[in-house]
Amino acid sequence: MFKKILIANRGEIALRIIRTCREMGIKTVAVYSTADRDSLHVKFADEAVCIGKPPSSDSYLNIPHLMSAAEITNADAIHPGYGFLAENARFAQICAEHQIKFIGPTPAMINSMGDKITAKATMIKAGVPVVPGGDGLLKSVDEAKGLAKNMGYPVILKATAGGGGKGMRIVFEDSEMEKAYDTAKAEAAASFKNDGVYLEKYVEEPRHIEIQVAGDQYGTVCHLSERDCSIQRRHQKLVEESPSPFMTDELRKKMGDAAKKAANSINYEGVGTVEFLVDKHRNFYFMEMNTRIQVEHCVTEEVINFDLIKEQIKIAAGEKVSGVDYFPQLHSIECRINAEDPYNDFRPSPGKIVTLHQPGGHGVRVDSHVYAGYVIPPYYDSMIGKLITVARTRNEAIDTMYRALSEYVIEGIKTTIPFHLQLMQDERFRSGNFNTKFLENFQLK
Ligand code: ADP
Repeated sequence: MFKKILIANRGEIALRIIRTCREMGIKTVAVYSTADRDSLHVKFADEAVCIGKPPSSDSYLNIPHLMSAAEITNADAIHPGYGFLAENARFAQICAEHQIKFIGPTPAMINSMGDKITAKATMIKAGVPVVPGGDGLLKSVDEAKGLAKNMGYPVILKATAGGGGKGMRIVFEDSEMEKAYDTAKAEAAASFKNDGVYLEKYVEEPRHIEIQVAGDQYGTVCHLSERDCSIQRRHQKLVEESPSPFMTDELRKKMGDAAKKAANSINYEGVGTVEFLVDKHRNFYFMEMNTRIQVEHCVTEEVINFDLIKEQIKIAAGEKVSGVDYFPQLHSIECRINAEDPYNDFRPSPGKIVTLHQPGGHGVRVDSHVYAGYVIPPYYDSMIGKLITVARTRNEAIDTMYRALSEYVIEGIKTTIPFHLQLMQDERFRSGNFNTKFLENFQLK
């Protein structure tokens, strides 16, 4: 087992990883930018190294700085968390060259799922259903129009390097294509330095359901059931739950098998997530595979009582996965607590947290790096924590969530708590009958 793990990340996920390392008797090294000097992950780790200035390119994305920090502290492994360098094959390669274990899959596995076009092609070969669409990058707007005409509108333009819902445009008719094509390309170029876009059929009223998988270097893959992430704003997840209210035993078996087939086709090693869109007839289509731990991994942990970070570390250290699939015994919901103003188009609201009271009690988990007096820097993601509840039934998990949100006090900044409070009381949300478009017509009172 590793002796010391450097965590190449910040915020709640850095803290989450430190907690598991503590339980496993592994020493930890935190890295931080000058803007994060006072963050909890810095205080909780055994050692901490400043790796540069606030912009991510000078710190959390700066590979030479990270490698130096790992070398001076004698870390024998690096955990990348999510975001930043978690799906950067070059970083994984450089770790290997320095004899430091990258806690995640190999560079080749990351590459095969890294851009969406390549991933889709790999899945078609493996026999996993994918969203119908063009089979490569678009070369011109005319090509896009021709394809769309053949498959029928609506269609969606997507960035091959995409993430976080950026570089995506839904197109309902021919006359909208030109503008959509240009904006999707421009947004992709600005966000990912790669303006490659492709086209696929727009699945109407779909649910976003993803399957958690774990695989080891000996070729065994198992699945850990699903998460439903259909509560999204501008293609970004806000609430996740497990199990999905839309799931049936039969569909879970089919999607679980497809996810294992996807992971097997690249000999996947580590924990990962296979994302699918599911239409109202319960047809499902592969969208992408995330070769890392995800923000919403906690709901899976709660319903099957399983530490996914521990599993990830054990797999990286060469241990075997169990080989049996896991099924939810309980119901868990996660609300993302963002420093954003839900009454003002979810605008970021960085600044100082003056008062903080976090909820507790039966069935409540808070994963967060903030504390009273903490100043949220404006440079990074606006998520400041995750509130997770678990209960025997979905209704009870929602009731516990409402109660916990009511206890949550964060003063000094705006947060998404009022939005979540209203959502937990919403009849349609409570019915479980919704899709990814649900929030488009949701009016905050
Ligand atoms: P990203 O990697 O940017 O998060 P995804 O491919 O995971 O992008 O898609 C994010 C969300 O966009 C999905 O959860 C879904 O709501 C929507 N979406 C993506 N592709 C389609 C599609 N073909 N049809 C309908 N909705 C889609």
